[in-house]
Amino acid sequence: MRRSRSNSKEIKSQVEHRDRSLASTIRELYPNVKEIVFDFTLDSYDARALSSGRFKPDKKIHRFLPSGKAWFEFPCLFSECDGRFKLREEIQNMVARHLVESSGTKHCGGTQHIPTRGTGLSCDAWLDYKITITFHDAG
Ligand SMILES: [Zn+2]
Repeated sequence: MRRSRSNSKEIKSQVEHRDRSLASTIRELYPNVKEIVFDFTLDSYDARALSSGRFKPDKKIHRFLPSGKAWFEFPCLFSECDGRFKLREEIQNMVARHLVESSGTKHCGGTQHIPTRGTGLSCDAWLDYKITITFHDAG
């Protein structure tokens, strides 16, 4: 049987799917964690310019429970971008230091492949995040 050729994006998403399915659950990795909430605002000067000002920063909330996978990578604002926001280290640091709240900014740094704009454009999107962790022994 001939295997169909996959493009690099498909391979990448297959690898990601595998990595995610192999990831431990939050309960296994961080037994003391009851809940993790990510409060995100995704923004981009490019998106604002391309939409003639109609673009509104994309606000999202992700809630993770102990049964969920300890997989803290989130896709870029642009579906055509291969960048991801990785917050695994932030979670590790917070758990290690028993921090209940942390915030910051991450820049995408990925590459966009938009047929109408050309490929290989570096992505300007950024993520303002606030992470809140509830620990089992809190209070
Ligand atoms: Zn991006």
